[in-house]
Order: sequence, then C-alpha cells, then structure tokens
Amino acid sequence: MGTFFHPECFCCHSCGYPITEHEFSLSGKDPYHKSCFKELTHPKCEVCHQFIPTNGAGLIEYRCHPFWSQKYCPSHEHDNTPRCCSCERLESRNATFYSLEDGRTLCLECMESAIMDTGDCQPLYHAIRDYYEGMYMRLDQQIPMLLVERQALNEAIVGEKNGHHHMPETRGLCLSEEQTVTSIQRRGHRLVGMRTQPQKLTRKCEVTAILVLYGLPRLLTGAILAHELMHGWLRLKGFRDLSPEVEEGICQVLSYMWLESEVLPGCRSSMPSTSQASSSSSSSSKKGGKSTVENRLGEFFMHQIAHDASTAYGGGFRAANAAVNSYGLRYTLDHIRQYGHFPL
Ligand SMILES: [Zn+2]
Ligand SMILES: [Zn+2]
Ligand SMILES: [Zn+2]
Repeated sequence: MGTFFHPECFCCHSCGYPITEHEFSLSGKDPYHKSCFKELTHPKCEVCHQFIPTNGAGLIEYRCHPFWSQKYCPSHEHDNTPRCCSCERLESRNATFYSLEDGRTLCLECMESAIMDTGDCQPLYHAIRDYYEGMYMRLDQQIPMLLVERQALNEAIVGEKNGHHHMPETRGLCLSEEQTVTSIQRRGHRLVGMRTQPQKLTRKCEVTAILVLYGLPRLLTGAILAHELMHGWLRLKGFRDLSPEVEEGICQVLSYMWLESEVLPGCRSSMPSTSQASSSSSSSSKKGGKSTVENRLGEFFMHQIAHDASTAYGGGFRAANAAVNSYGLRYTLDHIRQYGHFPL
C-alpha cells in the first residue's frame, strides 16, 4: 500500500507551495521542490553568484579561501577574475576592485586604509621606529624609506647583490647598494594619477634605504616596514651571514609582533615594557579608531605569516617564534649573534 496525499497537502517544506511535479526531493520526511532543495543545499559561488557547477565526476567542486572562507568556482582561478593583491580575495561580480597604476588590483576594504605615497607613509614609518625603540632596539641611523611601484621594486631587487626574496611577490626591500630608485612622491589631486620621481640613493651606512610597494593597507604596509627595518637593524648591529631561515624568520617575528600590537593591544605583556613617551606616541592616536574591517585584515596578515609554506619565511618564522616565546626576544637575538641559529 502506498501513501496517498491530497495534492494541496503535499507541499514543499521550503516555499510552502504544493508540489505538482513527479520528481521532487526528500530530506528526512520533508518533501521539497527540486529547485527549492537545490537553492537550500547547493553551494553558490561568491564570485559569479551562480550555483557551483558539478565536475566531470558529478561532484560539486569548489575552492574556499582558508582565512576568508570565500567559496568560488574553480574556473575563476584562471578566467582573469581580479584578485586583491593584499588580502587575496577574488573580485565578486557585483563589486569593482580598484586598479593600481602598476597593474595590481586592490579590493575596496583594503583600499580604505591604503597608503598611496611616500609622504603619507612617514607617520607610520616613525611609529614603527618608535616601536623598535620601545623594545630597546633603537635605530640611530636615518634610513630613507620610499614607497615604490612594483616595477621599481623589482628593478631594485635585481640591483642588489644578495638577499632572499619572497614568492610569489616581494613587497619590500632593505637596500644595501647605491641605486637610483623611482619613488612615488605625491599623487597631487586624489583622482589624478600619481607622480613618480627618480631618486639617487647614496649609502651613508650599511643600509641605503627601505623600499615598500605603494597602495597597500596601513597594517600590511606597517608589517612590511617592520620586517625590512629588522633586516636593517641586523645589518647595522653587525649580524653577518645568517641563513635565510634565521634572518627571514626573525624579521617575520618582528612583523608579526607589530601586527599583534596593533590588532590585539596589550598582547605579549612579557615584552620589555616600553617607555611611556614612545608607546603613547606610536599607538594611541591611530589605534583608537581602528575598524572591525581593518582588524580583520590585520588578523589575516598574521595568519599569512604564521601559515606561510616557504622554508625561509614560514619555517623560519615558526622556529623563530617558538624561540622568542620560550626565551624572549633579547636572549634569542643574543643567541643568534653568537651561534647563528635559534636557541633550541
Ligand atoms: Zn563562480
Ligand atoms: Zn583586499
Ligand atoms: Zn626579508
């Protein structure tokens, strides 16, 4: 004996309307229109907003960003969908990303706090030097800092005799050769293009200059600056011939610590306490007004450092961070200076 329904009683559990088609979906005891069931359960792409197609084996296959959980059709990885050069998210069909003059694209959330020229970056650069000073790692030399386009940064990298480079894209450089670098000086009117200016950099100490890609959000720009300043600090303090893991690893730790101090103020209380003057000047003004969007970005940059798959940057960071957590920064640095590796 089958079950009989009045047609008007056999209704879709989702939309409530009668199901008149011969084919329908059942979930537990609840019937659904096939289309309603698909709408409920079939994942949609956050880029094209269509149902994610099934692959050759009849399975729904999608990509998902490990931090943002942005779900999308695998095809968008090679159909020229713009990807934000800062946070890695893909452009959704209903939002337009911002195009930087050097070919990179930036999402609107990253654009909100982007630092666009060398002048705009000075306060942040000073804040990070203050951060170093607060940890008794003062840099006495005035190292020039320039924001540059991708092309100018890549040319400067070629002009350096040594150094390790971060794949897929290097975003900062601690220069030690004398070079002429084209920097971004002032954009003039906000909506008019930016101005670039070639600048001959002469070397007054072991470090010629620090270069950083322009157009990145404040927290990422700061993280890059903190990393490159650590290269500078190591060089000026006479650390020599460190392996890539040790050098990049400890630089990534400083970058991570600075981000942590911005995103979670009050963290790492075991760090040497900073002098009142430097800690308040570097942080209070900007920190008060940080939005949730910016904080979330900061967490992403920390996640990126911690989960980097490369040996030098990722492996180096994890080893350096473990050492700093066990022995403190001061002892770890002394150990590196003496033995060239992290304390175990
Ligand atoms: Zn899609
Ligand atoms: Zn972004
Ligand atoms: Zn580095």
